Amino acid sequence: MSRIEELFGSMVFNDQVMRERLPEDTYKALKRTMEIGKKLNPAIADVVARAMKDWAIEMGCTHYTHWFQPMSGITAEKHESFISPEKGGQVIMKFSGKELVKGESDASSFPNGGLRATFEARGYTVWDPSSYPFIKDNTLCIPTVFYSYGGASLDKKTPLLRSMELMNRETLRILKLFGNEDVTHITTSVGPEQEYFLIDRDLYNQREDLILTGRTLFGAQPPKGQEMENHYYGTIKPRVFAFMQELDEELWKLGVLAKTEHNEVAPSQHELAPIYSDTNTATDHNQLTMEMMKRVAQRHGLACLLHEKPFAGVNGSGKHNNWSISTNTGVNLLEPGDSPKENAQFLLFLVAVIKAVDEYQDLLRISVASASNDHRLGANEAPPAIISMFLGDELTEVLRSLLDDDEAAAVDKSEMKVGVHILPRFPRDTTDRNRTSPFAFTGNKFEFRSVGSTQSISAPNVILNTIVAEELSQFSDILEQAEDFNTTLHKLIVDTLREHKRIIFNGNGYSDEWIKEAESRGLLNLKTTVDALPYFINEKNVQLFTKHKIYTSEEIHSRYEIYLDTYSRTIEIEALTMFDMVSKNIMPACIRYSHLLGETLSTKKSLGIPSEAEENLLTRISEHMSALYEKNEALISAQKAHPSSDPLFEAAYYRDCVIPLMKELRTTVDALEMLIGEEYWPLPSYTKMLYSLN
Ligand code: ADP
Ligand code: MG
Repeated sequence: MSRIEELFGSMVFNDQVMRERLPEDTYKALKRTMEIGKKLNPAIADVVARAMKDWAIEMGCTHYTHWFQPMSGITAEKHESFISPEKGGQVIMKFSGKELVKGESDASSFPNGGLRATFEARGYTVWDPSSYPFIKDNTLCIPTVFYSYGGASLDKKTPLLRSMELMNRETLRILKLFGNEDVTHITTSVGPEQEYFLIDRDLYNQREDLILTGRTLFGAQPPKGQEMENHYYGTIKPRVFAFMQELDEELWKLGVLAKTEHNEVAPSQHELAPIYSDTNTATDHNQLTMEMMKRVAQRHGLACLLHEKPFAGVNGSGKHNNWSISTNTGVNLLEPGDSPKENAQFLLFLVAVIKAVDEYQDLLRISVASASNDHRLGANEAPPAIISMFLGDELTEVLRSLLDDDEAAAVDKSEMKVGVHILPRFPRDTTDRNRTSPFAFTGNKFEFRSVGSTQSISAPNVILNTIVAEELSQFSDILEQAEDFNTTLHKLIVDTLREHKRIIFNGNGYSDEWIKEAESRGLLNLKTTVDALPYFINEKNVQLFTKHKIYTSEEIHSRYEIYLDTYSRTIEIEALTMFDMVSKNIMPACIRYSHLLGETLSTKKSLGIPSEAEENLLTRISEHMSALYEKNEALISAQKAHPSSDPLFEAAYYRDCVIPLMKELRTTVDALEMLIGEEYWPLPSYTKMLYSLN
């Protein structure tokens, strides 16, 4: 075995370790639990727990933690040591099935959107056996779900698992109609491509905005932007390469299939793509990837910026969520097939996705909505806030001919069947040409590109799974009743297409014409998070979620409040950070530099030497400083006056009354940065941050 082969998954309690360490019947019982969610009996849980503990201790662990994903978007851990007191002041290392399966946590310390209002603040974490335990920091980490005392979900994993089960159920129904009796299980697969920036850690440490908010709140544009685009796929700088190498190894140890590392479009921007896996694992792994990126960067004297828009005027970062449906027999259902039957089945899945994206544009938009992602979506950067679908020319042509044939077939209905169409294979390079589309078909998968770089991929996948499952379920209801399957199928595909083709758009999603065109097609353009979020609790969506038991009505409302509150708190922190930086660093720097100018000016004047330069500079700086003072005070007053009675009202206030003042203040600060000597300016410049790594 090569070193890497040995390294891979060495920190994971994976199938191989289980097989080696568990008695055969225990292993089989656990596998059943993992694959079909069968409840594990307590005696077996004890055996599994002991094996996990022994393995973890051999690997140097002293602690274990239930690892969960609360609504804060980052993972949470509560470390417990394995020690247990014995008679005579001794300890032994213990870990029971009960401790493996269930833990208790304080729910009130995590976002809960009013669910805490009940008298009980207790929350529980429960083992998710479908994601492997792993070791991090000498701690055995057990992936868990997290819910409140009353049983309401408080995390990002529970709805994801629910949505995967739903997709499994509804896809199997469809497959059965096509006679696929050998398929017993399907899973949605995801490969999330992660973009990020790397900058020098010393520079990062000098920027309060980066430390507190993840983005630069100020910063004049550098003389060299990304116009040249010579960074994309360019040679990787040695320091960055060393970082990537170590990152890959750390991820491989954790069983993360990190595959591709390359430079992105913007200077100092990079991307990591893993090989796709089931959605649950992919989501856990993406959380670990983001955490490891930050840590490994630190070891290399770097800071990893995961924010969607760390630098104004420079491309932001996203996460491309590549999504497909795989059967346990190894078939990708989004791959056009070789036979007419397979093609018909493919077309049915395709139109299910088309219908889903069209009917639930609002939910897809909400699933990627955040204060930080607002800087990308709809803000002069691809992809736009309008959700549309790119299918590429070949596939669009196939669909068009289906629609046309159908009209021709009105003459002779019996002739036309979906099955007679042989679909071409779609070479990836022709389907992936359009980079501006939020939702693109790329040959055998859909790529949802609006996802933000910092966010968990859970929400977008919960929505994707749920909305596609809903359409499949509607299709099954029709097809299961059909007297003539082929005719009904054909009609279903064509009717669905005709009704929802407005969502298909293969042009430039970045253009103004598209905004107008989309409006005339009746597509939603939800420019900001605050525009989008209210749709979350509308009748149609509440019905969808409750019908499929993805969220209860209580969970929907709690999440709605959490999203709104997170938005307001994000802007609040940014506003306060701006005020702080201007008051404590930027204003004093301007005063110091003005002082130098003033002294030079009076010396020169007393000597009768020309001093227009100093005088002009001083005047311009003084004018900006007056504006700076006023704008800073205006911002803090507006921030202090924020309403807090109603979360939607508060968020709208932040968007309409605080963000514009932040922009105003930034303009003045950036103008001053261009006038003040570099050694006086308290913040590292864009040029330094973006171009100093070697
Ligand atoms: P690109 O988008 O750069 O052309 P790829 O097609 O190689 O590249 O894949 C990008 C991402 O999509 C990778 O993370 C890859 O694992 C993932 N991916 C590829 N095939 C599938 C699939 N069938 N389902 C889900 N993700 C996939
Ligand atoms: Mg891609």
